[in-house]
Formats: sequence, C-alpha cells, structure tokens
Amino acid sequence: MTITKLFAGAGLAVALAAGTALVAPEAVAQDRFITIGTGGVTGVYYPAGGAICRLVNKDRREHGVRCSAESTGGSIYNLNAIQQGEIEFGVVQSDWQYHAYEGTSQFEGKKNEKLRAVFSLHPEPYTVVARADANARNFEELRGKRVNVGNPGSGQRGTTEVLLSAMGWTMSDFSLASELRPAEQAQALCDNKVDAIVYAVGHPNGSIQEATTACDTVLVNVANDAVSKLVSDNPYYAEATIPGGMYRNNPDDARTFGVRATLVTSADTPEEHVYVLTKAVFENFADFQQLHPAFASLDRKEMTQASLSVPLHPGAERYFREAGLLNGAAQQ
Ligand code: GLU
Repeated sequence: MTITKLFAGAGLAVALAAGTALVAPEAVAQDRFITIGTGGVTGVYYPAGGAICRLVNKDRREHGVRCSAESTGGSIYNLNAIQQGEIEFGVVQSDWQYHAYEGTSQFEGKKNEKLRAVFSLHPEPYTVVARADANARNFEELRGKRVNVGNPGSGQRGTTEVLLSAMGWTMSDFSLASELRPAEQAQALCDNKVDAIVYAVGHPNGSIQEATTACDTVLVNVANDAVSKLVSDNPYYAEATIPGGMYRNNPDDARTFGVRATLVTSADTPEEHVYVLTKAVFENFADFQQLHPAFASLDRKEMTQASLSVPLHPGAERYFREAGLLNGAAQQ
C-alpha cells in the first residue's frame, strides 16, 4: 500500500471527507493478505497450510502477498468460511469439496458455485484406531461401543455420518458418540474415555502416532459392502490402505477407504494471489515435500487434477500452463 494508492480513488476521497480515513488503509492492506483455513494443530492440514505460507512469505517483498495459516475445525468449517468470505483458501477433503460445489449432502441449500480448486495434496485414509481391549478389528465390531466421531465442522465427522448411513446405522448404534477435536482424541482413547477414534488424515501423522504409542491400540479395517458401494458410486472416494509397520504394534495393513486433501478458494480471490501461492509451492517443491512426511509421495502433475471436482481457479491454471503441467483432456 502506498499513499498515492490511498488517495487514488474518488470513493476513498469521499470516505476521508466523511472522517473515516482509517477504513481505507485497512481495505487496501487486506487485498494483499491471504489466510488458509486448515484443521486441528495435530493434523496434517495445519502444517500443510504453514508450509504453503512459509513459501509464499519467503518472497513477499517481491509480490507483496502475505500468507497466514489458521487452525480451524476442518474441511466443512473451511468450506463455509470460504463461502462467507472469511478466509480466502482452505484445505478440504475431496468429498466435501464436491458436495459444497454441487449443493449436496451437508451442503444442501448452500451450493457454492464460486468454489474453485487450486491443487490437490496428500491422500487421507479414513482412519479408525481402537483400544486393543475393545476387541474391534473391523468397523462393524464397534457397534455398541464408545466412539469419538469428531467435532462438528471436521471432514471426518461428515464422512462418518455418510458411512454410518450407508451401513444403515445411526449415531445411536454407538453407546457414546463423542465430539472431541483431533488434538484431544488420542488422550481420550488412552484414558479409556472412548473405545475408538476416527480421523480422515494423511499418514504418517503425529496424532495417530500418539494414539498408537501412548497405549495399546489397533488400526481398524473399514472395509465392508457398504464401503465398496460408496467407493464404486462416488468419484471422490477410493480404496485405501494404511501400511503395516507404520505405527507401533500395528504390523498388518489396515484396509479402509479414503479421500484426498485439496486446496480450494473462491472465484472472488484475485488471480494474482492464487498464482503467487501456486507458484511458490510448485517452484519450491522439494522444500515443500520436506516439510511433512505425508507429502513424500506427492507428484506435481497429479496435484493439478487428482480428486479435483470443481473448476480450477484461473490463477492456478495460469501457473500450471506456464509450467507445462496442463495438457490434453485434463484441463477444463
Ligand atoms: N480431514 C480432516 C478434516 O477435514 C483434517 C485432517 C488434518 O487436519 O490433517 O477435518
């Protein structure tokens, strides 16, 4: 922001004359400030947002965009906040990205046609961890047990509701359905306040590591006919495996289904801001990947399209074209 710019518009001159001079500098400064809504501090979204902002801010003297990552309730919270113009970017699960744009499921009546994709990130298996003494190796065996189904606003809470309904279950099939946030749930599990916790999250991550090292727990398979049908009926779900040996006491693969983490924004976000952010990540890709182990298998080209069901934001598309990452039928 410069003084020249401040006095440039007739609208601003009127505002100054009316004695509201302080409004103008803020409005101009906010134009160059972007916020990414993430998730709980023990998840992967929060460090992902932090990593993206760090790369954007590294060159902020050149482009003038300053980025901050905010811890939030998760995917569904982020999508609502983007629609309301409270944040510019959000990390969200591919299933909720789809529903927000289409106005389906939890977004019925709240269709956001302005939702735009920036790029996709890591896969997120729907992860269920149970206390070893709960004797539940498969999701069906959690009937009648105490399960932390996640805080409202989180992606896993929404996806759990979809899963239960596909199985013909409701929350009352659990003896307790608690709503603790991700940062609280490993401790609740180990304190025997719940029998199992759910988290749609990239691996490896600190939260599941805590739940598997602080007490004896098992990764639960989430693989039944209802899950197979969810996967075959919906493009945003895929079968997923949490590899054996990744977490203590869990030598076998856990079979489940999953989504992908994606970065989205609004069509109202200026093209330049999306371009600057996309370029910062893609041109410092090795640095970005080092910032979290869940990013190890990311592929730049795949990130331009995998699990993106809404149109690309023009700022992202501009960078992908310049970088030769978009070609053939993949582009929209
Ligand atoms: N998938 C979770 C959600 O949408 C967040 C996972 C994370 O924070 O890494 O709320």
